[in-house]
Parts: sequence; structure tokens; C-alpha cells
Amino acid sequence: MDITFNTNPKLNILIPVFYLAWQDDTLSKNEFNALNAFIKNQDWFTKAEKDFLKSKIDYASPPTRSELFHWKEKIDKALDSGKNSTNLTELGILMANAERPALNEDDIKKIGVSFAEMESDLGIMSREVISGLRKQRDTITDKYKTVESFDVKKLTAFLDGTQSAVINKVKALISSPEFALDIPPDTMEYREKVLEWSKILAQHGLGSYAYPKEHGGKGDIEGYFSIMETLSYHDLSLVIKFGVQFGLWGMSILSLGTEKHYKKYLRDIASLKLPGGFAMTETHHGSNVKGARTTAIYNHKNRTFTINTPEKYDRKEYIGNTANHGEMVTVFAKLVIDDKDYGVNAFVVPIRDSDKSTLQGVTIEDCGHKMGLNGVDNGILTFKNVVIPYENMLDRFARVNENGEFESPIPSDNRRFFTMLGTLVGGRIGIPRSALAAAKTGLTTAIKYGDKRRQFGPEGGQEVPILNYRMHQLRLMPYLANAYAIHFGLQYLTKRFVNRTEDEMQEIEALAAGMKSYSTWNTRDTLQECREACGGKGYLSENRIDDLKNDTEIYTTFEGDNTVLMQLTAKNRLGEFRKQFGEMNVSTIFSYVVDKAKTSIAEKNPIATRNTDDSHLKDKTFHLQAFHYREKEILGSAARRFKRLIDDGLEAFDAANVMHPHMIQIADSYLDRVFLEQFQAQLELVTDEGLKEVLERLYNLFALNKLEQHKAWYLEQGYMEGIKTKAIRKMVSQLCWEIRQDAVPLVDAFNIPESCLGAIVTNKAAEA
Ligand SMILES: Cc1cc2nc3c(=O)[nH]c(=O)nc-3n(C[C@H](O)[C@H](O)[C@H](O)COP(=O)(O)OP(=O)(O)OC[C@H]3O[C@@H](n4cnc5c(N)ncnc54)[C@H](O)[C@@H]3O)c2cc1C
Repeated sequence: MDITFNTNPKLNILIPVFYLAWQDDTLSKNEFNALNAFIKNQDWFTKAEKDFLKSKIDYASPPTRSELFHWKEKIDKALDSGKNSTNLTELGILMANAERPALNEDDIKKIGVSFAEMESDLGIMSREVISGLRKQRDTITDKYKTVESFDVKKLTAFLDGTQSAVINKVKALISSPEFALDIPPDTMEYREKVLEWSKILAQHGLGSYAYPKEHGGKGDIEGYFSIMETLSYHDLSLVIKFGVQFGLWGMSILSLGTEKHYKKYLRDIASLKLPGGFAMTETHHGSNVKGARTTAIYNHKNRTFTINTPEKYDRKEYIGNTANHGEMVTVFAKLVIDDKDYGVNAFVVPIRDSDKSTLQGVTIEDCGHKMGLNGVDNGILTFKNVVIPYENMLDRFARVNENGEFESPIPSDNRRFFTMLGTLVGGRIGIPRSALAAAKTGLTTAIKYGDKRRQFGPEGGQEVPILNYRMHQLRLMPYLANAYAIHFGLQYLTKRFVNRTEDEMQEIEALAAGMKSYSTWNTRDTLQECREACGGKGYLSENRIDDLKNDTEIYTTFEGDNTVLMQLTAKNRLGEFRKQFGEMNVSTIFSYVVDKAKTSIAEKNPIATRNTDDSHLKDKTFHLQAFHYREKEILGSAARRFKRLIDDGLEAFDAANVMHPHMIQIADSYLDRVFLEQFQAQLELVTDEGLKEVLERLYNLFALNKLEQHKAWYLEQGYMEGIKTKAIRKMVSQLCWEIRQDAVPLVDAFNIPESCLGAIVTNKAAEA
């Protein structure tokens, strides 16, 4: 009688290993040797049985497709039999004994050892293989899904706070048919569309929110920032056009001008009857605006100023709202009286008639096509003997008196210039808030897509939503936590700015400069990750990430280049440090030393540096101490290093250059600490249990992810040991896993109008 698996059931014991070996259609030499040796050494097989089994590992005649299929059916049957098999030996025995007991206890004992050896020779991880073979596996990854553990509406209300009325007003407007996001491919048509949209916003009174009530506004600066942020769910060219017209142009009048200017211009700016721009940057002077070379020469005889562009590249460049629409601009130019230079001041200069023809002496060029923001008409302005009347000087901080003499309550040109710039800090609040909204849109897109989009899955099971994959979570959840942290941080910055006192101004400017950089860099990185997280769909324009990415790219440069702004923030921190320790006397030195010693004892002892308890890793005091420690150490070491460089005879400018990377770290560690503190402060305000729990989780992720990012530094400092940084890494991954369940409701809480979301989110796509 022929030998087959049916006639000699005990041979079935080898079906799982045969199946695994031939699964990829080839048998490696190693696999052959292991199987051949096993068969040869089994004295409970007859010679005929051994020959039969050897015929199944013959390179020359591999099993047919239908034979492989048949083996798999038998395996599935055994796995589904309800009898437990945790390794290949048990599975084989189960199959051998499936119809009737073919192997007795003695056989089984003998087989166990040699089978285990064969598995090891084949490099098989038995348990893993068994779970891989199990059909319809009930895996954790597969089952995981979105839950809504909190009330989304409550979270939206918490995020919007006192601003919900204006936010909802803007959302309603941008959701209306006239704001449908049909961007014309032609640049000129696009610019006209953006102008038209801006006019509608003006008609609804949104342009004048920040202006004083007596000049037709609402006197509500906070409202203005909320409008900027909410509009940023829509087209970003619109936001920038809006920001240039009502923010930069209007606010330059309000901040640098006086009552006569408010009366003359503000209402027309608010209605967009008078479109204008803000002309500070010159081709040769961007970050270094104090070096601007445009001149405003005072002529006492007829009380006028003559505006000139001395050399070609002293022209104003990139000026928003000027290539097509602007009729006036605020020009930053050096005031010259009787050949004496009084530093950079601001002047209102008409550039076009209301019929749009360019005025005499003014040359306007178009900056042309850009990487993004093509709905904004950026222009290049050159002035040749353009005469403007005396009252066009914005004279809040400086003026020319009746005798033709320069007058200013701030004698130093330098200080006056920076005071002027300081009043314009609002732009550095509007831009990071706009950037945050773009990041929220990107996250909403990628997270909602990831929740639906399925790829791969367990053998025989259904495919799994990509958001269930740990790596996918690790790519997106930290950015989700950042978005919440930055949201709370920018709310804090806005409130500080709105309620500022004179003596807080420098600190607020430094904070705004830093937060502008932090938020816009975060948006750049978030959108890149979101694009990739959506695969090919992320690349399609209909899903908007391309526009968001291209448009926010320049956010890291305009309103001040981020790297330069971080220097400004760091300088302020160093200044504060020096104020505190520069005037060191015995008692301050003593308390500083005691303070440092206390840190060492409390935070850098062997128990603390190795503490991996969950409760410790999630302890807010631990986070705050660790963030403070990094901030203080970097600041203190920078101050000492700077002093050493100067003591060694380096010029201050050279020393500052050597210190630049260190300065960026000062700003970064300071900002991390402020964002952390503000997140903590917000948690204190949450009363709803569901909200508190989910926000605590996000908070922990924000805090621990930052520690993880800076772990090299903490290890260098001996503030943590490897065992602790490893535990942090593990917890970051675990938090991402936990947050994934709430990720969709967490982006739903941003409440972004559906009309502003891409097709992959709104199900308009044929197939997600
Ligand atoms: C689309 C767009 C719209 C704009 N709108 C306006 C507008 O309406 N009005 C207006 O006045 N301006 C506007 N700008 C100009 C913008 O504000 C400037 O581009 C910006 O201030 C940077 O200046 P810059 O381009 O000359 O760069 P640069 O100052 O030349 O900087 C180039 C690089 O050098 C680095 N760098 C510079 N200084 C230092 C330093 N000290 N240490 C280390 N690194 C340094 C910077 O980090 C940057 O990476 C706009 C620009 C664009 C592109």
C-alpha cells in the first residue's frame, strides 16, 4: 500500500514544518539539512515512511500549489479544533492524532526533544509562528479603535474659552458658499479672489476688531488674533492678505502714528477702501532692518519729506499687498535733517491713485510666483524723489518740530527704533497662531485618515487601520500633544500682550519672538509628517496639505527669521540672568550656591536619577524640575562662557558669534519650560473628569517626549541614568498607544469647518 499522510497519520506531525519551509516556494540548504537530519534520526518511522517524508523535501519536486493549500487547510482545522497548541510540536501532534491516536505518550516524549532541536536548527520561533498561522486572529492591534472617552463639545468650548463667539462667527463665514475653496490656477485671478474675500471680511467688521471704538473698531485685540487663527483653517493667502492690510498696515498707523493719523486713515483701512502695506524689508537689509538705507530727507522750507531709494538694492522688497492693490504704504526710512541722520522712522507714502495708476517717482515691480501664498501680491518698491507732506511722518515716538528740529521722548536712535518695533509685536502673535491652525488642519487630516485607512494585517485576518501601528502613532501623537501645548502657550502669550504693562514689554517681546519660532517650526515639521502619514493621498492637492505646507513655509522667515528671533529671546534671558546675578553680593552668591546644591541633592541623587516608577515619570513636579534644570544650566553656563570669552580678549561681536548655537539652546529650553508650565496651568482649570484624563495624557506625552528629545543632554549632565531614559522612551510609546483611542475626538475638538478639510477627511474621495 502506498504511504500517504492519510494512510499513515503520524506523519502529519511534519506538515506544519513542511508548510513553513515551502511557504516561500523554495527550500534553503539549511532547511533541507535540518529536516533531512530529523527524518533520518527518527527510529519510530519505517524506512518507507522516511522515504515518503524525504520525497516532500526534494528540491526537484516541490509540493504543488494545491498540496500547499491542502496542508494549510489541515493546519487551520487543527488550530480551530479548540485544542490548545502553543508550539509546532504540539500542533504537529495534534494533527497526527486528529483522526485517531497515532502517537502514544512514549512517542510524544521522545519526539519532543528532537523536534525542539529541529525547530532551533530551522531558526523557528514556535510561538510566533503559531500565532502567525492562526486564522482570524483576534489581535490587539486589529481590535484597537477610536473611542470617545470625553465630551468633544466640552473640549472645544474649553479651547475656545471667551473667544467662542467670534471664532464661531468666522467659522460660519468661511463655511459659506462665497468662501468655497476653489482656488483659481491663474495667479492674477487668485489675487483678485483673495481681495474679494478680504472685502467681505471687512464688510462683516472683522478688519477693525483691534482698532479703537472711537475710530470704528471694537478695541478688541484678542478678538483680532482669534480671527487670524480661525481664518487660517481657510486659504492662507487670505490670512496673510488680511494680516497685511488690517494688521501690519493698519497697526503701523495705530502703533506708530497719532490721533490725526487714526482719524484720517483707520476707517478706510478697516473697510479696505484704502488698501496698503508695510514696507520695512529692503533687498540688502532683511533681518537687519536697522540697517535700512531708504532715506526721508526733511525740507523745512515747504515742510515735506522726500523719500529716496539711494542704490538699487535699497529698494523695499517682498512688500505684501503692493504688486496689484496697495495705494499707500508705511515706509521705514532714515530721517535726514540738514544732512544729519536721525535713524529709522516711519512714514506714510502713497504709491498708487485710487484708479490704481502708479504715482510719480514710484516704481512697483511684482515679486512673481512664489513657493506659496500666491494669492498675495508681493511687490518691490523703489522711490525716486517722492515728496510727501509733513503730517505723513508717523510721529508717536519722534517728530520734527516747528523749527525743523528733531524731537523725541526717546533720545537714543537705537532704543527708539526698538521701541517702535516693540509696538509691532502683534504680528509675532498672529503668525504663530495662524501656524498653529495650519498644524491642526494637517493633524486632523492625517489622524482621521489614519483611523480609516487600512494596510496589512494578521494572516487571515482583516487589514488594520494604520493609526493602530505603533510607529504611526509615534509619528503623529507627539505633534498632537505639541498642538495642544502650543495652543495653551499662545493663549497665555496673547493674554500677556493684551494686559501688558510698560515694564513687562521687553519680556513679552522676547516671549513672542521665541513662541513665533517655536510654533512655526513645529508647524513645518508637523505638516511634513502629516503629508507622509497620508501616503500618496497626502500629496494630492485636494487634501490641502500641499498648500498648507507651501504657504506656511515662509512663516519661519517673515515677521522675523526664526533663528534670528531665537537670538533675541536668548539675549533677553541672558539680560535677566545678569540683572539677577550681575549685581552679585555675598548674600545672592550664597543663595545661588545653596540653590544649586539643593538641586543636586533633591534631583541628582542616585535614587532620583534612576527612578523609573510610573508615578514619578508622570509627576508634574518632576517635569517642572527637569525642565527648569535644563533651562537654568544652559543659561548659567552660557553666561559663564560668554564672560570667559570676553575675559580671554575676544571682541563682544565675535564672542556672540561663538555663542550663537548656545543662545538657541537658551531660548529653546526657556520656551519648553513656559509651554510646559502653561499646559500644567490649564490642567488646573479643567473640572470635567473625562477632559482632565485625556488632557493629562496629552500633557504627559508633551513633557516626556521633550525629555526624550533631550535625553542626550540629561545623560551628559548625569541628571538621569540610562535606565530612566529608557523607561521614558517606553512610556512615550505607551502614551501614544493610549492617546490613539482618543486621537480622532481630540482633533474633532478643533472643530475645523468641514469645507476647509480635504476629501480624504470628508469622504468625498471615491476610496480613502
Ligand atoms: C512672502 C513674503 C512676504 C513678506 N512680506 C513682507 C512685508 O509685507 N513687509 C516687509 O517689510 N517684509 C516682508 N517680507 C520680508 C521678510 O520679513 C524677510 O524676508 C525676513 O525678515 C528675512 O530677511 P531676508 O529675507 O533678507 O533674510 P536674511 O536676513 O538675509 O537671512 C537669511 C539667512 O541668514 C540667517 N541670518 C541672518 N542674520 C543672522 C545672524 N546674525 N546670525 C545667524 N544667522 C543669520 C537667517 O537665519 C536666514 O536663514 C516678506 C517676505 C516674504 C518672502
